[in-house]
Amino acid sequence: MKFRSVLLVIVITSLGMCLSGCLRWAVRAENKLPEETALHKTYNYEGKVIIVGAGASGLAVAKVLEQNNIDYLILEATNRYGGRLKKDTTLAGFPIDIGAEWLHSAPITLNKLKGKLGDKIDEELIPYHLDNSASWDGKEYKTDPRWQNNFMYSFLPESKFKETTWYDFVDENIAKTVKHNIEFNSPVNGIDYSGNNVIVKTINGKTYEADRVVVTVSVGVLQSNMILFIPEMKEEKKQAINSIIFHPGFKVAMKFSEKFYPDVITCKVDDGEKGFYDMAFKKDAQTNVLGFLCTGNETQKYYNLKPEQEIISSLLEELDKMFDGKASKSYSGKYILENWGQYEFTQGTWTQAFQESKSHLKVLNLSLDSKVYFAGEIYDKYQQMGVPGAILSGYYTANKLLTDE
Ligand SMILES: Cc1cc2nc3c(=O)[nH]c(=O)nc-3n(C[C@H](O)[C@H](O)[C@H](O)COP(=O)(O)OP(=O)(O)OC[C@H]3O[C@@H](n4cnc5c(N)ncnc54)[C@H](O)[C@@H]3O)c2cc1C
Repeated sequence: MKFRSVLLVIVITSLGMCLSGCLRWAVRAENKLPEETALHKTYNYEGKVIIVGAGASGLAVAKVLEQNNIDYLILEATNRYGGRLKKDTTLAGFPIDIGAEWLHSAPITLNKLKGKLGDKIDEELIPYHLDNSASWDGKEYKTDPRWQNNFMYSFLPESKFKETTWYDFVDENIAKTVKHNIEFNSPVNGIDYSGNNVIVKTINGKTYEADRVVVTVSVGVLQSNMILFIPEMKEEKKQAINSIIFHPGFKVAMKFSEKFYPDVITCKVDDGEKGFYDMAFKKDAQTNVLGFLCTGNETQKYYNLKPEQEIISSLLEELDKMFDGKASKSYSGKYILENWGQYEFTQGTWTQAFQESKSHLKVLNLSLDSKVYFAGEIYDKYQQMGVPGAILSGYYTANKLLTDE
C-alpha cells in the first residue's frame, strides 16, 4: 500500500513537471510575440552604424536601418550571409536546411518577422505532427506509441517549410534589401569604444569608424574572446555571456534508395541531443534523405573519428543495428556533413531553451556605454528561440540603438 502511494506521488510529480515544461513551451510559442516591431516605426538617426555579422539577427538590424535610410555597413567574417542558416540543393530533389530547419513557434511568428500585419500566412508549412517515431538506447529499438506523438504535438506546435527553407525565408524577406551593404571576408577582431566614435578592426588590418556598433556574432564566438573590446566589458556582462551553454554539434544528411526509418528516432544521450529524422517529412519528394543531429558531449565521440567518412560509417553501423542491415544496403554513398561546432565563426549550434533568466537577459542586452549593442539568438527578449528569436532581437536592438540618447 505504502509503495503504491509513493508510486502515485512519483507519477503525479513527473506528469506535473512534464506538463509545466510543455506549457512553458506553449507560452513561448504563442504569447510572447511583440505587438509591433521596429519595422513598423520610423526613425531619424544621423550617425553611422556598423553591424558585425550577417546572420539572421545582423540582417534584421540592417533591414530596419535600410528602411530608414541610415548609413550602415555589415562586416561579415565569411564569404556568405545567413550564418547558421544554410541550404543545399545538390543532395536531394528538394532544398535541405543544413542549419536551422524547424519553426519552433506558432506560424503567425513568420508574419511578425517580415513585418506583415494580420493572421494569414503566405508560406506553406508542414505541421510537425509525427505519424511514427522510435527511441534507441544503443541496444534496444522501441517504437513510440502514437498517443505520445499526438500529446506532444498539442503542446508543441512545430512546423517545417514545405517547399522552401529557413534560409529562403530570411533571404527573401530580410537579406534581399540589405545584402548590397555587406563586406565579406572581414572577421572583426577589435572594437574600441573608448573615444567619441567606435573603432572597429578586422583581421585583415582594416579599420572602420562608426557612431554605434551592433555585435551579432554567436555567443560561442564571444566566449572565445576573438574580439578584443577596449575598454573590457564589465565583469557582470562577461559572466552572463560565459554562463550560457552553447553546445558543439553537427548535422548530417544521408541519401538512401529506400525509406526504412520512421519520422524520428530519438537516441539516448547523457547531455545535449542526438537523433535521426526524415528530412523529406511530408514534402512532395521522390528522394529519401535521413537527417542526423548531434549536440553536446556525445559530439566528441564523433569528432574523434577522422576522416569525415568514418563518422558516416559509424552512423550506418548504428542504423544497421536498428534495422537489420537495411541502412548499408540502401545507402547511396551521398551525404552532407555540416560541422557547426568546429567552425571558427560559429563555434556551436544553438543555446538551450530557458537557460536565460530575466535578470540574465537584462544584463546580456545592456549596451556598452550606448555605443556598442548586441543582438542575436541569446538576447531574445521575446523568448521565441532560434531563428525567430535572433530576428526579433535584431529589431529590438535596432529600435534601442536608434532611440538611445
Ligand atoms: C545545426 C543547427 C540546427 C538548428 N536548428 C534550428 C531550428 O530548427 N530552428 C531554429 O529556429 N533554430 C535552429 N538553430 C539555431 C539558429 O540557426 C540560430 O539561432 C540563428 O540562426 C542564430 O542567428 P544569429 O544571427 O544570432 O547568429 P549566427 O547565425 O551565428 O550569425 C552570426 C554571424 O556572424 C558572423 N561572425 C562570427 N564572428 C565574426 C567576426 N569576428 N567578425 C565578423 N563576423 C563574424 C558569422 O559568420 C555569422 O554570419 C539551429 C542551429 C544549428 C547550427
